[in-house]
Order: sequence, then structure tokens, then C-alpha cells
Amino acid sequence: MTQFDYDLFVIGGGSGGVRAARIAAAEGGARVGLAEESRMGGTCVIRGCVPKKLMVYASEFPGEIEDARAYGWDVQAHGFDWAKFRGTLEAELTRLETAYRSTLKNAGVSIHDARATVMDAHTVELATGERFTAKHILIATGGWPFVPDVPGAELAVTSNEMFHLETLPKRALVVGGGYIASEFACILNGLGVQTTQFYRGAQILRGFDDEARGHVANAMQAAGIAIHCGTDVMRLEKTPGGIRALATDGSEAEFDLVLYATGRKPNSAGLGLEALGVALGRNGEVKVNDWSQTAVPSIYAVGDVTDRVNLTPVAIREGHAFADTVFRGVPTRFDHKDIASAVFTQPELATIGLTEEAARALGPTEVYAAAFRPMKTLFAGRQDRVLMKLLVSVETRKVLGCHIVGAGAGEMIQLVAIAIGMGATKEDFDRTVAVHPTMAEELVTMRKPTRVV
Ligand code: FAD
Repeated sequence: MTQFDYDLFVIGGGSGGVRAARIAAAEGGARVGLAEESRMGGTCVIRGCVPKKLMVYASEFPGEIEDARAYGWDVQAHGFDWAKFRGTLEAELTRLETAYRSTLKNAGVSIHDARATVMDAHTVELATGERFTAKHILIATGGWPFVPDVPGAELAVTSNEMFHLETLPKRALVVGGGYIASEFACILNGLGVQTTQFYRGAQILRGFDDEARGHVANAMQAAGIAIHCGTDVMRLEKTPGGIRALATDGSEAEFDLVLYATGRKPNSAGLGLEALGVALGRNGEVKVNDWSQTAVPSIYAVGDVTDRVNLTPVAIREGHAFADTVFRGVPTRFDHKDIASAVFTQPELATIGLTEEAARALGPTEVYAAAFRPMKTLFAGRQDRVLMKLLVSVETRKVLGCHIVGAGAGEMIQLVAIAIGMGATKEDFDRTVAVHPTMAEELVTMRKPTRVV
């Protein structure tokens, strides 16, 4: 019998890789090696969810301070100290990175701080020249920002650089209409940056419920973000005062910072996968079956590199399912249906299940939608409106989708997701007694459909 150096070698210390390595080692008794070429924790911890959410919090204070004044508090904001925030942020990320390392060490995982490539079905090579054999190899290398090939694109930054800016710009252009672009547009705007957003499509946040997208876009515009849909950058040019963007609509404007958030690509290039017979898709995504197994039986892949649903909790669950299946003797397939998610724009958008457009395509659907001004900000004289929306199958009475726009939407949808996951009907929602006074009570008090589609 071949003796391998490891039972499992994981490439990538992000959400998926770390979970798989820990479960395989600590609960599956496997000998596990893990290679990470950058900082432990991966995109989510170092250059994604965590630093982004902390920036969202930072950017919400001006609004909160304004509201505080309306509530009678004598407070003034004396400006935002970006360098101070960035320093505290960096310290927090370092703390998290250290915590990830010790969790892995405590689980018995051997960490290799180097880039790894795959040599054959059971061998990896590190950038140091060391080689290790493993019975199983897990590719968990994540994704990377994709910047289209426009002249002057090198003048722009990506989300990776947003957490390390030397100074905050005065004028920023965000290119892209997805959740990362829209979140950064709100963050910058909240921090006092004059913000413009270009998106080549007809409306930002493609893929989300149309009514919810419109609601968020209107609120972002009302907050001062200049959103230009149907507009793309033709060329970027360096000027003495900044970066000039020439747009497809013929306009020209100068910015201090241009952020490209135009999608991400699976990080599969240069790993040596194709030569081994691991199938890659058009976008470079590693093709896997329901068990996250590639075309080479000893090689598995989880997380963003497989481009299924690119979210941290999904990468974690895929990694966990892999470790349960291969190392704990508990065959587990992760079900990608009904995954709740939140977009941390201001206002927040959170969603679970089908959009109105998708539900309607499946069959007759009752739409319950309420847009209202919430008590807290109404009192402060703000115009903010919350949207609560439920989609109900006429035939089965099941709640097929829920979309919430408003403060705390992400927190609310987490709980709605339990009910929808259990197959709750509209009558189950109706039977639930409201918690008063809250915004979420609207979810259980909408009695008459707004429309049937
Ligand atoms: P990653 O976390 O990307 O980890 C991959 C790791 O592999 C990296 O550390 C990389 O350095 C390493 N690596 C790559 N190649 C090699 C190699 N050859 N050798 C060694 N190491 C290698 N998701 C949410 O759920 N909620 C959010 O709010 C959210 N916000 C986001 C905001 C931003 C700005 C971004 C960019 C992403 C956000 N995401 C969010 C997505 C989330 O971060 C990813 O879905 C998640 O991190 C994917 O985990 P992963 O394990 O697949 O890959």
C-alpha cells in the first residue's frame, strides 16, 4: 500500500479550505497539510466580508449622528480619520488571522505558508520546491477580481486595495453593478466621498428581485450616489489632478479613485489542473459533482473556485460536507437551494428563495409587498422607506421567496430562512403573532396580496 505524506492536502486557507482541513483533522483523524500563499483566512477575513462590513459600520455613523441630533442629542461629527480606522481594521484582521492559524494548529493541521501547485493526482509542490504526497487533494483557492481590458484599467483599483488606501478620495467612480460594487458605492458615499457608479446594464444588482433592486437603487440615489446605468468606461487617463474617465455615453469626468468591481474569476489558473485531466469551465471554474469531486477522483474542490454560489457560508458548508463524506464516513451533499443572503448596501437588501420574476415563471403567485417609512428614521425626519415582500404559491400556499430592504434586513432574513427552509405556508406566517413595534412584524401582518401574477 502506498504511504502518503498526508491523508489530505488542502490548497487555500480561506473559508472552505480551513473548514475542510479542521474537520478532516480534528473529527476525521486525518493527517492534513494546508498551503496558503497569502494571509490565513482568505478573502472573507482579509479582503472581503469582514473588512467590508466594518467599513459599512464606519460609513453609517454620519447618518446615525444626524438622527441622534433629531432625537435631541447635542452631537457633532468632527470628521472621519481614515488612517485611524485603517489601523484599527488592520489590527482586527491580524487578530482574526492569528485565531484561524491557532484553530488549525490545535486541530493538528500542518500549515505551509507557500503557494502550491498540483503535480499529479496525489502530489503537490510548494513554491519552496518541497513536494508532498496526499491521498486526497482539495482545491480551495477561491476567486480573484476580474478587471476588463479597457485602456487605462491599470489606473483603477479593485476591492482588494480598498482596505489599504493611503487616503480617502474626494471623488470616486465605482464601476460595476453587482453587490460588491453597490456596497462600496454606499460605503464611499457614507464616508463623505462624492460617489459615481457606472453600470452597463439597465439596473444594478442583477439577479435580485426587480422591485427590491429598484428600491435600493432609488434609495442610493436619494442618498447622493450618482448611478449611471447603461454606462461603461471607455478609457481611463491619468491627469495632473486625478484620473479622467471617458464614458460610453460620451461624458467625461475626473476622479481621485476608480474602483473596478466588475465580477470575480475562479482562481484556478497555473495550478496545473488541466494537464491532470481536471475539467475547468469557461470561466476557469473547477467542475465538480454533487460531492465536490473533480474529474480526477482523488482531487476535490470547494468554494469560489467552483463558482457555484460564491458566499462564505456556502464555501464553509461545501468544505464541511467534503470532510464529512471523505474523512468521517458520513456521506453529505450540500444542497445549494434556498440560500439566504444579504447585500450590505445602505439600505440593506436581504433575500431568500425566488424572486417575483422566477416565482411567476413557475406558476400563479401572490405578491405581498409593503413599503413604509419606519418609525425610527421617520421620527428623525428622514424619507427612508422599508420594503417587505413575500411571494406565495397560489397552488401550494408555500412562501417561495422573501425580500427585505431596510436596516437590519440581513439579520431578519436569517430567521425567515428557517421558516422557508421548513416549507412554511402563508398561513404559518399569518398565525405567527407580531413582535411590536418592529419593522419585521410586517412580515406576519400582510393580509391581502398586493397583486397576483
Ligand atoms: P477564499 O476565501 O478566497 O480563499 C482562498 C485562499 O486560497 C486565499 O487565501 C488565497 O490566498 C489562497 N490561494 C489561492 N491560490 C493558492 C495557491 N496556489 N496556493 C496556496 N494558496 C492559494 N461572502 C459572504 O457570504 N458575505 C459577504 O458579505 C461577502 N462579502 C464579500 C465582499 C468582498 C469585497 C469580496 C471580494 C467577497 C465577499 N464575499 C462575501 C465572498 C466570500 O469572501 C467568498 O465567497 C469566500 O471567501 C470564498 O471562500 P473560499 O474558501 O472559496 O476562497
